[in-house]
Parts: sequence; structure tokens; C-alpha cells
Amino acid sequence: MKSETCFGKVNQQPLTQYDSEFEADNDVEFIKSQYNKELTPYNCNRCGFWHLSPTNRQTPSKECMSCFDGNGNTKQAYGSKLTAKQRAKILHEEQGKKLRVYQCKFGNGWHLTKS
Ligand SMILES: [Zn+2]
Ligand SMILES: [Zn+2]
Repeated sequence: MKSETCFGKVNQQPLTQYDSEFEADNDVEFIKSQYNKELTPYNCNRCGFWHLSPTNRQTPSKECMSCFDGNGNTKQAYGSKLTAKQRAKILHEEQGKKLRVYQCKFGNGWHLTKS
């Protein structure tokens, strides 16, 4: 069922809505097996129904050639603060990591760091 109130951030298409997490989970399995796409159900605070959002690696980022993490690896840079925040949220939900968003001092976007 398509939502009348909620639309995708990228394509502006109505989101599919589910009455319960159980229904959403079913579709997650289906989409995973059919399209090899990883999705996560979330309870929408706008409409109260459940939608699916891409699980990971769907927050666009690029390597920042100027910044390095503690291990000397290049850091991922996110194009917007919002994207970086989404990524931080995903990592928090999936791995329990607490990350903070900060602006790259070389102007390459936004980074995450342990808080
Ligand atoms: Zn919604
Ligand atoms: Zn940087």
C-alpha cells in the first residue's frame, strides 16, 4: 500500500506503508531475495505506519583525500550534514556506535567521528 503522506527523499515517489513491523519485515526478506537490496523497517513518526529505508551503503559518500582516521585510512565524506547524520543513525542502530557529525576542515563535506 502506498503512503499518501510520505514520499521518498530521492525520487519523491510515495513510500510503501505497512501496518506492522511484521508486514514490513516480510517485504524486507522478499526484496532481499529478489533484488539483493538491504532494507530496514522503521516506524514513521509522520504517518504512524512502517516504511522501509535502505540499510547501509546507501548514504552517498566519497573518500576525503585530506582526512584520516585513527588507523591512517582515508575518511568517508558525506555531501550534506543530513546524509552524515543518517549514516550516524544507521551505524548507531546497527552497531551501537556513537558518532558525531562534523564539517571537513578542507571543505570536502561532512565526516563522522567517535563522540
Ligand atoms: Zn510515513
Ligand atoms: Zn575531510
